[in-house]
This record gives sequence, C-alpha cells and structure tokens, in this order.
Amino acid sequence: MSVLVFAETIKGKFKKATFEAVTYGRKLADALSTDCIALCLGDVTGAEDLGIYGASKILNVKDDALNHFDSQIYTSVIAQVAGQTSSDVIVLSHSANGKSLIGRLSVKMNAGSVSGVNALPNVDGSFSVSKGVFSGKAFATYEIITAQKVISLMGNSFGVQELGSAGTVETISADVPASRLTVTEVQVSEGTVPLPEAELVVSAGRGMKGPENWGIIEEMADILGATTACSRPVADSDWRPHHEHVGQTGIAIRPNLYIAIGISGAIQHLAGVNNSKVIVVINKDPEAPFFKAATYGIVGDLFDVVPRLNDALRKF
Ligand code: FAD
Repeated sequence: MSVLVFAETIKGKFKKATFEAVTYGRKLADALSTDCIALCLGDVTGAEDLGIYGASKILNVKDDALNHFDSQIYTSVIAQVAGQTSSDVIVLSHSANGKSLIGRLSVKMNAGSVSGVNALPNVDGSFSVSKGVFSGKAFATYEIITAQKVISLMGNSFGVQELGSAGTVETISADVPASRLTVTEVQVSEGTVPLPEAELVVSAGRGMKGPENWGIIEEMADILGATTACSRPVADSDWRPHHEHVGQTGIAIRPNLYIAIGISGAIQHLAGVNNSKVIVVINKDPEAPFFKAATYGIVGDLFDVVPRLNDALRKF
C-alpha cells in the first residue's frame, strides 16, 4: 500500500502545483504510515527534486507517446503503475489535465474519487475528505469506501513544503497504448505564472470600457509580478483571451491577493475568486456587490485610481 502522486509537467518541466501535490502526498503517506511515490511520464527535467518535496520514491516511465498529455494513454499508464506499486491512493493536481484524468482513472481502477479537495483526509478508520461546494459557500465531507481512491488537490490550498532531499529517479516500463490523437502543436504561454498557481492576480471587468484601456492593468500586473485575469463578459467580447476568464464557468483561483478592477462582483464571478486570501476591489459604484466580499475597497473611477496606484506601487 502506498500513495502515488502523478507529477504533472508542461513540456517536461514541473509546475508549482506538482510540488504542492507531492507535499500533500507525503503528508497523506505519513498519516497512513506508508510511502509517497512520485510518477513522472515522458521526458522530464529535475525529477530528482521531487524528493525535496517529500517523494520517497521517484519513478519515470519514458516513451515518446508520453511527451504530450493524452488523457487516455496517461490513464492507462498511471493505472498500471498504481498496480505495480500497490498504490491505494492516487493524488493528482486539480489542473485541466488532472480534471480530465480523475474520472477516467476512477472508472479504470473502479476507485472512488473526489475532485478539488483542499485538506488532508481523515484516515482514522475511514477515508473522509472535504472540498468546497456551492461556489465555496460550504464544505462537504465525502467518505471514499472503495479499496483504491483517486483525489485531486485544489491548487494553492495546501502549500509547498520542503520535506526531504533530492532523490534518485528510477526508470520503469509500462505498456503504452497507441494514441488515437496526433498532437500537431503545443502552445505554452510564457512569462507569467498560470492563473491556477498565481499568488498575485490583477483582474478587470467591463468597467474598463474596452480592450484598448488594458495598458494600466498590465502595468499594475508588471509592477507586482502578478498574473492578469478578467470577468466573463470581457472574455466573451474578445477584449481579453479566454484563458483569463475566472469564475464559476472559468478558472477557480486561490491567490494570496486578488485585485478586482471595474468588476461588479456577480455571484458567478465570486464563485471562482472568493477563496482568495485578500481581495481588493476598485469600483466607482459604492453599492457594487463585490465590496461585500472585499478585504479592502476603493470607491472611485478606475481611470483615476489605477494610474495613481501604479505610481505609488512603483516606489516600493
Ligand atoms: P458589469 O456587471 O457590467 O460590471 C462592471 C462594473 O464596473 C460595475 O460594477 C461598474 O460600477 C464598474 N465600473 C464601470 N465603470 C467604472 C469606472 N470608470 N471605474 C470603476 N468602476 C467602474 N461572470 C464571470 O465573471 N465569471 C464567470 O465564470 C461567470 N459565469 C457565469 C455563468 C452563468 C450561468 C451566468 C448566467 C453568468 C456568468 N457570469 C460570469 C456573468 C456574471 O453574471 C456577470 O454578468 C459578470 O461577472 C459581470 O461582469 P463585469 O463585472 O465585468 O461587468
């Protein structure tokens, strides 16, 4: 019996969410008095570092077909390795890839699954794990009663900890099925931290009036080293790319700081951002619903407030 963590990569490089999942896997393995095994698929760099975050064993299945994410192939290989290592619990990141794996793995392994967990399970005689429900307004606790279990960890919910030292990577083999897909191109946006992992987010809404005004938002994000986000109508109007859309139907985020500029704070928007640790709202309407969720609020015209804030922030 062991805990198997799928160590997700993008173009062979590990993400912060992967280190968080390994940290989580280690703590869970400690609670179960077992090993935490990290599994890397395809060509990866720096896999030995997974030991620093708590992996007691680091396994790598290498095959050209594993160099691009393919949920069917990955499901097959992860399930095989879970069998080879007698792993009862599989931990995934609650990323786009993790979301597409969890259901497939659950079916393939006949395992109960809970997605988007934010805390360690209670393993005292049962296996009960909690997650946010109703747009983060409540928590529900689920007991998984199957022998094998699959869970995905919500990003930024547990934290990354250094719990050990660099390990040794063992290459193992698995039967890699033929893909039904041909990957023609992979585009990875360079520079900023992806939204699900971002600790600082500057986000703007329809109050910006048009895409031509986003310079002040990008400027603030540059000064803070933050990632930019937007409300849904902004993405729907093509003012900003769809991958910036946060909320119930967009990406759910948990940054340390969320600055919401010219966003009303509709319930569907809040659903994706109200787990942020500090929320700063800038809106000219004092009755904007977002102020109820704000840690700090500035009532004012964003075209006046944001440039002045940028000037002040630049001095730090
Ligand atoms: P608006 O509601 O138009 O608000 C603009 C705000 O800017 C106002 O509060 C206004 O006071 C302020 N403002 C205007 N000018 C200025 C200025 N000069 N200075 C300062 N403030 C100014 N929305 C999401 O964001 N994410 C989702 O995932 C999402 N999912 C949805 C799912 C469903 C099923 C439905 C029905 C809706 C969903 N929506 C979602 C849409 C949501 O209901 C709101 O319509 C949307 O969030 C509003 O976007 P907004 O705040 O940018 O625009």
